[in-house]
Amino acid sequence: MRPLLPRVLRLLFPGTEGPFVFDKQQVIWPSKPASLNLYIHLPFCRKICSFCPYVKEVYDPVVSAAYQGALLKELDSYRRLWGDVNIESVYFGGGTPSLTPEIVESTLSWIAKNFHLGHEVGVEIHPLDAHSTVLGSLKNSGVSMASLGVQTFHNRLLSMLDRGYDGKLARQACERLVQVGFTTTDVDLIFAIPTQNQEEAEADIETACKLGISQISTYPLILFSYTPLSRHLHKARATMPSWWVERQMLRAVVKKAQDAGYQRTSIWSFNRPGTIRYTTVTKDAFVGIGASASSRTGDYFSLNTFSVADYIKAVGKGSPMALATKLNTVDKMAYWLFWQCYNLTINTDIFRSIFGRDLPYRIRAFLSLLNLLGMTHRRRNTICLTDAGAYLFHLIEKEYTQAYLKTLWKACLQEAWPCRVVI
Ligand code: SF4
Repeated sequence: MRPLLPRVLRLLFPGTEGPFVFDKQQVIWPSKPASLNLYIHLPFCRKICSFCPYVKEVYDPVVSAAYQGALLKELDSYRRLWGDVNIESVYFGGGTPSLTPEIVESTLSWIAKNFHLGHEVGVEIHPLDAHSTVLGSLKNSGVSMASLGVQTFHNRLLSMLDRGYDGKLARQACERLVQVGFTTTDVDLIFAIPTQNQEEAEADIETACKLGISQISTYPLILFSYTPLSRHLHKARATMPSWWVERQMLRAVVKKAQDAGYQRTSIWSFNRPGTIRYTTVTKDAFVGIGASASSRTGDYFSLNTFSVADYIKAVGKGSPMALATKLNTVDKMAYWLFWQCYNLTINTDIFRSIFGRDLPYRIRAFLSLLNLLGMTHRRRNTICLTDAGAYLFHLIEKEYTQAYLKTLWKACLQEAWPCRVVI
């Protein structure tokens, strides 16, 4: 059976027919864009964490060096296509980008030489890499935003997730991050971990707030059948927290962050007032560089091959793109609205300026229904999600992640060059 979310989206948006089909197709790139957002994937890790669904492999210096060269070749293919475009933002994700800071630094230096590089440069940092020297040199190379993958400060849960450090080290890493003086310091925390209780989830938020972190991103643990944690839980006959426990935990962490003076800036993130948000996924148009990186630009959504070895080989010969889907106007509207809901506000004037029309009738009717149910409220041209609306969207985002990762990612992890994936 196909996942629920794409079917619901198709009900709300008349004019879309059939499922999303990803296949190997010729992508027609738009002419030179006014500006670009870049996401660069660095897939190397010290060890593999039990819950991790992402594309990663254990660090090998030879593979890493070849990968570094391949990244520059892929970037150069865009330079040849578009010339020296403005790069509005660059985010390095992984994997563990902080494990190979030399790749981050050399790639940034290449981008600065060949494009116009802006000031929004973010890097994911593993607590074990958060030494003053590494952080300082990343900052000197132009990194302005740092996201520390703490996940939890509790030793018992850290060991269940195979993170390889304890709560004390995680706290010290936060302190160093703040000392270095990045514009934004983000900490990633997970809630609804099996056996975690509400007090532990609240204590994690409280600790991050006390340590002076400017952004807290907190995600529910989503279990994927292809991860070791899924197999461990199955063997131990342990289960994930119920939806009710998860809901109570989400309520509690939202309250904790808001009581500490943080503003809710998306369904899963909280910022100190005045801080710039660390966000990779919510950009309107972006180009992904590296194995498994996705791009959303022009009329297409595309993905590079998930195999690191195949990526290195393919970039040398041509394109590393494995799959693409062509988006019609309605798909683009759905994509835009999805991420606006994730960010808790829909500005109808911006919608009109992008799409040249008002929100489709069924979407307006759906939003009116949410308004009656107390899930949205309207301030002139802006529709805001209330806490109840944010919870509904928390469920939708989880469903989307399941649909996307369980179907598309699973297929791409199994085969370097899948023929076709249907969601
Ligand atoms: S969670 Fe992060 S550090 Fe752990 S395996 Fe995944 S990418 Fe690597």
